[in-house]
Amino acid sequence: MKKENTEENNLMEKIVSLCKRRGFIFSGSEIYGGFAGTYDWGHFGLALKNNIKQNWWKKFVDSRRDMYGIDAAILMRQEVWQATGHVANFADPLDGKAFNTMLKTQVGAKKDEIAVSYLRPETAQGMFVNFKNTVDAFHPKLPFGMAQIGKAFRNEIAPRDFLFRQREFEQMEIEYFIRAEDWEKYFDYWKDEMLVWMEEVGIDMSKVHELEVVKEDRAHYSSRTIDFEFDYPFGKKELFGLAYRTDFDLKTHKLEYIDEEEGGKMVPHVIEPTFGVDRAFLALILSSYKEDEKDGEVRSYLKFKPSIAPVICAVSPLLKNKPELVEYANTKVFVPLKSEFGRVIWDDNGNIGKRYRRQDEIGTPWCIVVDFDTLTNNTVTVRDRDTGEQERVKVSELISYIKDKLD
Ligand code: ATP
Repeated sequence: MKKENTEENNLMEKIVSLCKRRGFIFSGSEIYGGFAGTYDWGHFGLALKNNIKQNWWKKFVDSRRDMYGIDAAILMRQEVWQATGHVANFADPLDGKAFNTMLKTQVGAKKDEIAVSYLRPETAQGMFVNFKNTVDAFHPKLPFGMAQIGKAFRNEIAPRDFLFRQREFEQMEIEYFIRAEDWEKYFDYWKDEMLVWMEEVGIDMSKVHELEVVKEDRAHYSSRTIDFEFDYPFGKKELFGLAYRTDFDLKTHKLEYIDEEEGGKMVPHVIEPTFGVDRAFLALILSSYKEDEKDGEVRSYLKFKPSIAPVICAVSPLLKNKPELVEYANTKVFVPLKSEFGRVIWDDNGNIGKRYRRQDEIGTPWCIVVDFDTLTNNTVTVRDRDTGEQERVKVSELISYIKDKLD
């Protein structure tokens, strides 16, 4: 048991150090000693995070006809949070007292104009307060949803476990508006949709568990909640959640819907699938991290699906001091691949072995090398991240070769 714990702790340390070494994630305000609960996203971390968000948006917004996106302001009037009960109830216990975890700020410059505001602790309310705007602008029929991706802030008493519990993080949320009598049907529907997305993005489903949250542990607005938990190295803890928020929020904001089908005014009920971007990122890295032995050395690599990987392929000239190799690699391989796939990088640093190790840790599925044979027969080596095997591919067929693999 003890050994297992050490191994799990080591795994977290390895992930944190890989994320820094390979330019995924840095501690916030690091050169001034760090700032608990904040992280800065480096080039590859940002690329992976953007891919997660884009994949989510594509599935839940772009490929549907019943979903409306919104990007609401982070600063909202304090009345919003008074109405929802957050000012009174959004608290964690601290030495027996309730400590409100909303981050308070003030806006306005002149004394009589200064108002208290809060950095939103969830993205959900940005959607509810725009319910009427959305209905008036798009005239959607029930059921329909609103979706938002954006930052949320909580003054967590004890930020910890890398990205798991931060003070500034990101959420991807849906508020799905339905008729009250349909709630069970749509609750089950969204549960399945969430599971499908997790698998699609590459989260290890053997580590995902459903927890039916008992009444005492549910938020005050929820009549049913399922937490999707994940086996992190530091324990089985929440990844995402699904809640039946009833008509609590729309009623709170005194909002209604004119039901043309049934006639008259009504207040729709809400099913809310919520996804933490940072926890999705962490679960994905933990699911993808692998170690094996190559050429007598232990190597670590991130086995991302190519569609989600921060880099699709890296291009290298075998030797960087041979202008004919560099010229060929740049003009005939790198430039066309870059303009086709975007997520393509040039890597001529160190020897080939070192480049492969680096790209393995970034999770790059294919490394392409231009060598002396290329100059005579117009083929390159394509090395596969997972097997380490190399194949010679015609330069003229490279784009379709990678496209086929991506599909
Ligand atoms: P927890 O019980 O872990 O504090 P929660 O139940 O308060 O989480 P929700 O209010 O349901 O979380 O927030 C929705 C999602 O936002 C969570 O499922 C999680 O993925 C993410 N999330 C919440 N708090 C944090 C945080 N401090 N850091 C990173 N992600 C978070």
